[in-house]
Amino acid sequence: MKEVLLLKCGEIVLKGLNRKKFEDRLLGNLKRRLKAVGGCTVSLRQSVIYVEIPEEVDGDAVMDAVSRVFGIALICRAAVCEKSMEAMLETAEHYLADQIAAASTFKVETKRGDKRFPLTSVQVSQQLGGELAHRHPHMKPDMHHPALTVHFEIREQYAFVHAGPVPGAGGMPVGTNGRAALLLSGGIDSPVAGYMMAKRGLELVGIHFFSYPYTSDRAKEKVFELGRKLTTYCGRMPILVVPFTKIQEEIRDKCHEELFTLIMRRFMMRIAERLAVEYECGGLITGESLGQVASQTMPAMAVTNAVCQTLPVFRPVIGMDKEEIVQIARKIDTFETSILPYEDCCTVFTPKHPNTKPKLYKIEEAERALDVEALVAEAVAGTERVLV
Ligand code: ATP
Ligand code: MG
Repeated sequence: MKEVLLLKCGEIVLKGLNRKKFEDRLLGNLKRRLKAVGGCTVSLRQSVIYVEIPEEVDGDAVMDAVSRVFGIALICRAAVCEKSMEAMLETAEHYLADQIAAASTFKVETKRGDKRFPLTSVQVSQQLGGELAHRHPHMKPDMHHPALTVHFEIREQYAFVHAGPVPGAGGMPVGTNGRAALLLSGGIDSPVAGYMMAKRGLELVGIHFFSYPYTSDRAKEKVFELGRKLTTYCGRMPILVVPFTKIQEEIRDKCHEELFTLIMRRFMMRIAERLAVEYECGGLITGESLGQVASQTMPAMAVTNAVCQTLPVFRPVIGMDKEEIVQIARKIDTFETSILPYEDCCTVFTPKHPNTKPKLYKIEEAERALDVEALVAEAVAGTERVLV
């Protein structure tokens, strides 16, 4: 049976001048994402996006891909049929057979987009509803809280039959709010942070600090795998791999142990900001959560943030509990990869007693032992761009 997805966009963003930009971007994102699944046709008519699924293409795979595309509020997966009462009834019988068998109550809702259709929507609902009730006496009509709602949508060319919408990924189409750089470690939090900001319409560029041989190639591969999992939501994402070993060794050799993590994090932010500007990103994203570790207390974050000169830093999980972050990580399928036990550069040379109430002047004083500018420039120059 020929199927189609009817997609409804988020409404608020569809107002005014934004509308065209929003829709064009959404259509582009959808087409690109569906390329991998097979030859679906995507088109927009009267604020509804149609994804036509050819018979030979796996409808579940299309549904899965579309349900990860931001900017779509609702998805109706429907069967396509001829615009006649008989065809609509028989299509409902076949396409919704399982739901009909399971439902104790039902109602019919009809939308008549094609005003030339000889019956009104109320007449269609009454006649087809009556026939379904007659054929399936276990299913009682219930206009208020039906277990199953059978939808008939009569449009220009065809009629569509479905059992109602399911929620789409929500948010705004990736790219409609610009591009930002995600500091992507191998942990649980940063992939979730990336997902949350992509949902707000940001295209992502990943940045990963890599400290070979303290962190292994397997750790890097794990980060690429996390990136790949994110691309099913955010589309194409390059990952910039920054050589970080020399900086970490210099800090270890020349600065007091208790300041190690903070000085390292300040280097990360400096380098990330340079790379972000180079890759035309308007902001940085991290997976920091207040108080989760010593470097994420408010004074520690003030010290880290002090080196960011021009770009805003988005920390979407700042107010979330670990358990809430884990829930999202499971939903977006990054959790199992994140918990693989490879070292991150944050976990090498960690101080036994990290400073949780650092003073900015002390950190700045300690950094005078280092040639900060040269180290940053060298790391930026040695950065490798990988497309996952
Ligand atoms: P995560 O679970 O994302 O690793 P975390 O709780 O372990 O976070 P930290 O290790 O202190 O926290 O890192 C805080 C944030 O700094 C991370 O969420 C990430 O955005 C960034 N970060 C940490 N290590 C790296 C790295 N090796 N490469 C890129 N970004 C990093
Ligand atoms: Mg980490």
